[in-house]
Amino acid sequence: MHRRKFIGGIGAAAFSTGVLAAGKPASGGACATPQHRSPMELEHLRASVDRGAPNYELWRESMIWQRRKSPRYPGLIVQVDSAEDVAEAVMYARKHRLRVTTRCGGHSASACFLRDGGMLIDVSRLNSIEIDTRAPLFNAGPGAIAREVNARLRQFGLAFPTAHCGMVPLGGFLLGGGLGLNGNAWGLMSTFNILAAQVVTADGRIRHASATENPDLFWSLRGGGPGLYGVVTKLFLKTYELPRAIVHNTITFGFQDLPDVIGALAEIGPKMDSDVELLGYVGPAPAELTAHCANADCRRAVSVDANAYTTNVADSARKLRVLTEHPIMKRAIGKELGSTTTIEALYFDEELGFSQRRWVADNVFTNRARDVATILRDRMTSCPSVDAQAVFLYKGSPKLPAAACSTMGDFYASYYVIWDNPTEDPVMLGYLRDLYKEIVPLGTGSNINEMDQEGRPDQINTCYSPEAWQRLKSLREKWDPHGVFQNFYGIT
Ligand SMILES: Cc1cc2nc3c(=O)[nH]c(=O)nc-3n(C[C@H](O)[C@H](O)[C@H](O)COP(=O)(O)OP(=O)(O)OC[C@H]3O[C@@H](n4cnc5c(N)ncnc54)[C@H](O)[C@@H]3O)c2cc1C
Repeated sequence: MHRRKFIGGIGAAAFSTGVLAAGKPASGGACATPQHRSPMELEHLRASVDRGAPNYELWRESMIWQRRKSPRYPGLIVQVDSAEDVAEAVMYARKHRLRVTTRCGGHSASACFLRDGGMLIDVSRLNSIEIDTRAPLFNAGPGAIAREVNARLRQFGLAFPTAHCGMVPLGGFLLGGGLGLNGNAWGLMSTFNILAAQVVTADGRIRHASATENPDLFWSLRGGGPGLYGVVTKLFLKTYELPRAIVHNTITFGFQDLPDVIGALAEIGPKMDSDVELLGYVGPAPAELTAHCANADCRRAVSVDANAYTTNVADSARKLRVLTEHPIMKRAIGKELGSTTTIEALYFDEELGFSQRRWVADNVFTNRARDVATILRDRMTSCPSVDAQAVFLYKGSPKLPAAACSTMGDFYASYYVIWDNPTEDPVMLGYLRDLYKEIVPLGTGSNINEMDQEGRPDQINTCYSPEAWQRLKSLREKWDPHGVFQNFYGIT
């Protein structure tokens, strides 16, 4: 989500889906030639590394995008190049009673794909993109990264609501729901743009799932995320017309104004056109604000971002009037209105704030965003990391199509604690987990993709409606009766 703006000073270390140290495997691109002992039956796959291999730890760590490497150890890591490879790996796992998890870009802040024992299938190399310009539709491997997807679609005047950072692949993002670019106009949650998928199921068969073929599997993969009982090897996706321009507006406020700013967004959101992405962001303040202010509050600032995805630049000023004429604007301490930008530039901006450091994240959907903002105003100054960031994305409680993705609220309120020193892990994790004890009761549920699954595994069900949770459970029993695939984190 939009984590950028003030963050120029944080230092963007590395923008890759893999770990960059020399000699380590990179998840989406060139891979070091594996020197490993692998089970003979899997020898011809691109790579299979078991726990006894000398380079096992390099592989294990490279599966996780961030630098906090959760201490869980799969028995075998398999990297695949095709759906057939996946089918073979699943058959091997069945035969040897290894429980399977799937990893795509490894961005899960909880590294929920990492379990002790069993087999981890890395699908990041399934990254093909094929565009059918007549339909227009496209299909892509789960490993296709956001930047690549929109660069290819742009050539045909098309776009897709990927994640906001260019390096996030489609896989985990779409299967867990996906708050994508221009989300309120482009499908609400990006997962609803999945028209069909190729899935390897627990019996090792490669199947097609759509609204008419294996519809219950299709229902599950639109949001089932880490609770899926299959490996998705290809996605068939809807496209949108590339906006002629993205008109970008940022208005900055003092940190103490946070609850009032979010309260104002709650008034503005319902009146705003759906193709304007409206969000409040809290993060480290820009240097020009901190330079003249010693107060601890000055280390942070609030901004409102409004990105109008428009076919008509002139019309964007009208679209934004509901924001620019709101009384909250009188409290603005900085304004940057009406600049045009591109999807590529948005990716770049986001990535500036989202470097590979140590992370823990959590979130709620909420209809009480102002109250959440009040808690943050009171608790954020005691955050042990100055680089913590919070996002309030306006969603407006839309009615969702029938699918596993089933939680929503007026706002998506997420929080990210970011740091570097491993000895600080306990204090950072402890801070976020205490904070969420206060915030969770104000939510309508959480988004599985950015939930602190390691911290609150007993609340993963709150990422789904009670009906969807129940249905996921019974479909798992139908499709994976022998438990080939691991269940959600924390459920054995
Ligand atoms: C830099 C960054 C930016 C982000 N930006 C956004 C954003 O703008 N919007 C948003 O909504 N979220 C965002 N997120 C969160 C992101 O959506 C999740 O982390 C998501 O899981 C990332 O996808 P991934 O492929 O890296 O998942 P991984 O971490 O690789 O996998 C997560 C889980 O997804 C499942 N999975 C993945 N691929 C498959 C597959 N092919 N078949 C079956 N199951 C699979 C597995 O169960 C796995 O445990 C961001 C995260 C980061 C770190």
